[in-house]
Amino acid sequence: MRKKAADALPGSSWSPLQINPNLPPERADIVIVGGGVIGWSVAYWLKQKERLRGAVKVVVVEKDPTYSKASTVLSAGGIRQQFSLPENIYLSLASAQFMRNVNEHLDVLNEDPVDLQFHHSGYLFLASEDGAHIMEGNYRTQRSAGAKVSLLSPTQVKEKFPWINTEGVVLASYGLENEGWFDPWSLLNAFRKKAISMGVIQCCGEVTGGTNVMTTKDGEHLGLRRIHSVKVQMPNSLEYQPVECAVVVNAAGAFSAKLAEMLGIGLGPKDTFDGIPVPVEPRKRYVYVLHCPDGPGLDTPFLIDHSGVYFRREGLGGHYIAGASPEEAQEPDISNLEVDHQFFEDKVWPHLANRVPAFEKLKVSSAWAGFYDYNTFDQNGIIGIHPLVNNMYFVTGFSGHGLQHSPAVGRAVAELILDGGFKTLDLSGFSFRRILDQEPMLERNIV
Ligand SMILES: Cc1cc2nc3c(=O)[nH]c(=O)nc-3n(C[C@H](O)[C@H](O)[C@H](O)COP(=O)(O)OP(=O)(O)OC[C@H]3O[C@@H](n4cnc5c(N)ncnc54)[C@H](O)[C@@H]3O)c2cc1C
Repeated sequence: MRKKAADALPGSSWSPLQINPNLPPERADIVIVGGGVIGWSVAYWLKQKERLRGAVKVVVVEKDPTYSKASTVLSAGGIRQQFSLPENIYLSLASAQFMRNVNEHLDVLNEDPVDLQFHHSGYLFLASEDGAHIMEGNYRTQRSAGAKVSLLSPTQVKEKFPWINTEGVVLASYGLENEGWFDPWSLLNAFRKKAISMGVIQCCGEVTGGTNVMTTKDGEHLGLRRIHSVKVQMPNSLEYQPVECAVVVNAAGAFSAKLAEMLGIGLGPKDTFDGIPVPVEPRKRYVYVLHCPDGPGLDTPFLIDHSGVYFRREGLGGHYIAGASPEEAQEPDISNLEVDHQFFEDKVWPHLANRVPAFEKLKVSSAWAGFYDYNTFDQNGIIGIHPLVNNMYFVTGFSGHGLQHSPAVGRAVAELILDGGFKTLDLSGFSFRRILDQEPMLERNIV
């Protein structure tokens, strides 16, 4: 399946990982579950931060070295500043800066320069009458957070991009810098290689459970518990290894709720905090690769139509990718990653052809599907420790924007673990506590 996706992506440098057949160590300080871009970013930043202090043993456990279902490698690779929450804008700005200087961070011994294949291009959000006031509010938030974004009237849109049909468009916002797209695999692999060169241990296996212990003080239960060890099941074998650890990081992406459940989280009585599950689930999203020689060409922004349909250029030669999120009531089956081509015909193409008349003549050359790590509570990342399991950190639920935020999010989690609090960006609003307290942090600009 992943091979198909790689074929579908001109320019992608994906290749399978070397499988490490060794058992993981019996003890580690920090076990990161999930070797996607988030897990490896956390691993890199942990090593980067603790360099001055001495050895912290960090293990990354990844169950699927082919990354056949990993969101990272199946994503659209976009980064934008245009969010509604200041925290998300700050994460984008910090991550864009990291990517601009990626070789200062991730080059291994000056021997292996990283090329993220970054294409600078603004996102162009189009608003209808209904959405214009929300766009204006988001624009003000973005500007005051330091993002360079401009508002355009339909006439200005037409002047800049003459191929757009502006019918039904009342306002547009356009990113002037720090936006574009890049190769997700290159970023994941660069984090991974650098982290391994700094001493992080990579292990191939699936965490399928663990042991918990109650936290006590002077013999009294505090109502808290800790994960004492995780059980790592080796691939294609009955063999498993319990790994005793001080800290567990849940970076299992779309499957992070399943992992939490296997570690005993959310299984208490329904009307208690202990009975609240992690509100993250896999939601299938299709990406269609289009060929349209008469399409808009080189100067195509990452366009987000007010219908929710998006498209961007994919390389040169008249290729584009496009997609849309389905309505809540029509979420597709998640038991597989098959593509629904009818969804393109019914829900994507009509909007594409309306917005760009040249797209009436496009051809779908291939397609793939991937899972959003979708936070059903408020469509935002969950970053921080579980209030009742006081050595388990969550970094999940990014709902379609986890790739672009991975550099800054990894740094934030490393600060939480090693410094006991956020140092560079205050992300406390994204804590797990908000779920227990039923205080959503809604992000309005979800694509
Ligand atoms: C179609 C699509 C388009 C997207 N477009 C964008 C975009 O343009 N910009 C953007 O920023 N984001 C985008 N995203 C979202 C982004 O891809 C994700 O938010 C991000 O990649 C999450 O990274 P991750 O490391 O948490 O998850 P993943 O990459 O899924 O990695 C998690 C890893 O954990 C492993 N794992 C799970 N359970 C276990 C276990 N029990 N034991 C061991 N290993 C385990 C899995 O095998 C997996 O490799 C998109 C997603 C999709 C599907």
